[in-house]
Amino acid sequence: MSQSQSHNNGMLYVVGIGPGSPEHLTIKAANVLTNADIIIGNSTYLDQISHLITSQQVIRSTMGHEVERAKKAILMARDNTVAMVSGGDSNIYGMAGLVLEVARHENSQVDIEIVPGVTALSAVASLLGAPVVTDFAVISLSDLLTPWVTIEKRLQATTEADMVIGIYNPKSRQRNNNFQRAVKIIRRSREDSVPVGIVKNALRSEGESVIVTTLGQVLEYDDEVDMRTTVIIGNSESGIWNSRIITPRGYHKKYDY
Ligand code: SAH
Repeated sequence: MSQSQSHNNGMLYVVGIGPGSPEHLTIKAANVLTNADIIIGNSTYLDQISHLITSQQVIRSTMGHEVERAKKAILMARDNTVAMVSGGDSNIYGMAGLVLEVARHENSQVDIEIVPGVTALSAVASLLGAPVVTDFAVISLSDLLTPWVTIEKRLQATTEADMVIGIYNPKSRQRNNNFQRAVKIIRRSREDSVPVGIVKNALRSEGESVIVTTLGQVLEYDDEVDMRTTVIIGNSESGIWNSRIITPRGYHKKYDY
């Protein structure tokens, strides 16, 4: 489609709004949301940016209708400035991918800009201390879009490679034992003494909780783990100091301090 055939007055932003509290939303994200004609997202995320809503049109969508949401946003962005909100970072298990996939499929000429945000891993790590200063992997335990066998393979490979592991989507109402299954796999090749951090509602105004434990004991806190929780499993060098997790970067091998 040529530029002249497209209605190219609009713009679509896919905006990562950070973990929840207004002060962890970037200035860029705030500017985009303030200046948008239309803001689209699910209720949880819209509530997190309610302080920025004045005259924008707000479209609340529900979980599980992401494809429709992406299509609608692309359509409306032909003639409007549309901001689609995505929790945390808009890439990391966020809406950026689906929006670009749908745009490619439709061969859309709409301008799309992806606005990054503070992802759950960064938020959670900051509350735990310094668990991820070295190589790490993030793995989502949601098997709605990824087969469980693939998740198991990734868990095993990253555990064997001694990477710090950040676990997103550890549980949902329908998938209540995925976290237990994941811990079982990780314990096959990681010591029980390895530190584990369980953080719920990190950097949100309500419900924040931080637990520091070990791999051997983590399942004692299984009831604390839910869909608003991210879990960080340390590597073989991680330790606990004053209820904080520290993973050495390697300075101690090179310098005296
Ligand atoms: N795009 C988001 C992740 C979406 S997947 C991001 O970059 O953070 C949803 C998962 O993210 C949740 O199941 C949970 O594991 C994690 N999560 C999101 N916000 C969180 C928060 N404030 N505290 C703890 N975990 C969070």
